[in-house]
Amino acid sequence: MRRTKIVATVGPACDSRAILAEMISAGVNVFRLNFSHGTAAEHADRAVMIRELAAEAGCHVGILGDLQGPKIRLRKLAVDPISLEKGTELILDTQLADGAGDASHIGVDYEPLARSVSAGDILLLDDGRLRLSVDRVEGEQVFCRSESVGQLQSRKGINRLGGGLSAPALTDKDMEDIKLAARIGLDFIAVSFPSSAADIKDARLKLESAGCFAHIIGKIERAEAVANDEHLDELIEACDGVMVARGDLGVEIGDASLIGLQKHIIKRARVLNRPVITATQMMESMVANPVPTRAEVFDVANAVLDGTDAVMLSAETASGMYPVDTVLAMARNCEGAELYPSARKSSYRLERKFDSVEETLAMSAVYAANHQVGVKAIVSMTETGKTTLLMSRLTSGIPIFAFSRNEETCNRVSLYRGVYAIASPSAGIEIADCVKVIQAQGHVQQNDLILGTTGDEVGVDGHTNTLKIVRVH
Ligand code: PGA
Ligand code: MN
Repeated sequence: MRRTKIVATVGPACDSRAILAEMISAGVNVFRLNFSHGTAAEHADRAVMIRELAAEAGCHVGILGDLQGPKIRLRKLAVDPISLEKGTELILDTQLADGAGDASHIGVDYEPLARSVSAGDILLLDDGRLRLSVDRVEGEQVFCRSESVGQLQSRKGINRLGGGLSAPALTDKDMEDIKLAARIGLDFIAVSFPSSAADIKDARLKLESAGCFAHIIGKIERAEAVANDEHLDELIEACDGVMVARGDLGVEIGDASLIGLQKHIIKRARVLNRPVITATQMMESMVANPVPTRAEVFDVANAVLDGTDAVMLSAETASGMYPVDTVLAMARNCEGAELYPSARKSSYRLERKFDSVEETLAMSAVYAANHQVGVKAIVSMTETGKTTLLMSRLTSGIPIFAFSRNEETCNRVSLYRGVYAIASPSAGIEIADCVKVIQAQGHVQQNDLILGTTGDEVGVDGHTNTLKIVRVH
């Protein structure tokens, strides 16, 4: 059974019942609705369709809405595209109107631009495809020189190498999308471009006041967010989960710095009890090819070995030619990586003190399951998924079956590594009943040992206090 989860972005390439159903059976655990594209009605229809298809398939699939956030963009050009040559002079100007830009003068949707950059800065356009160096700043105009050759289109993103261009975390459009998320009952909301824990806290208040209680996935994609370890830890702790958003992050900090940082973010997320998604260009060549490159196979594998909960597909499934094949290839490669011993062994939290009974139970459960010969599964009876999340923070090869009466919990734990959700058949069930369910599904056999956790008061949040080992009859 694959432990690493797959997040797949929905878009025109997979916008039909038939393809979405195939993607679910190919292994998608969470669908991502990208609010940077598409209309509210399209997203709502897709969410309804996904819920229906998951129910038909008898599995749990989470839905994540990804807010566009304050991506800073060039304004529209009069004629698309323009060509940049090495050495071309280009003025970026916050005063120039939308639709007025040309090959020498382009508007930018970011009022503080002229105050945020200075001579010698490097600005990156279109996810780093084109580089400009800043010559000088005059009033609202930033005079740049192109260091690249290529075509530039309207509304492409702009970043400063090293960070420093930042706008408030939630835009008016994001607020509209949050209301939509509340209406369609999304499981996760991804907040784009947060700089700090304060941005996430602010977003959480706004989400809650709009009636949206989705878990917040903070996208780590700004240089500011990773400025130092303490700051990053605070940001991770403010979120319910994080995404290593390698597209924008790589542009801001340079791709060479991304390598160590991916490992660091994944490690800190696990230590701080948060799930983590590794995203962007994992299988990029499959947008147009039916098989991945070896480099992509190893990129997915390395994220698995780093300990990520999930790997994400963006354009590959949203607009690529082979959405189903991509999911199949990704699933296969995750499974391959999980065969490597370090993907299954844990060094535990030997140095830690636990401050909640739940954490103590969760850690004891995984320790016992990994060490007791004959344990084939963990059963976690859970209301909110909290104990299950804690268990899945430790590396193990043993599957964790999360039994919950709560549909939202089942959807959410679908993101966690090594966790498989099962809707509790009835209110009064006990560990022995759960064991019968997984036995009937063929996951365990007679004489296997199963380790179960539950609470004296089943159905009450935060009451997990019992650890049991039972033998399958
Ligand atoms: P995006 O986020 O696809 O919304 O830009 C992911 C990333 O930046 O990697
Ligand atoms: Mn991004």
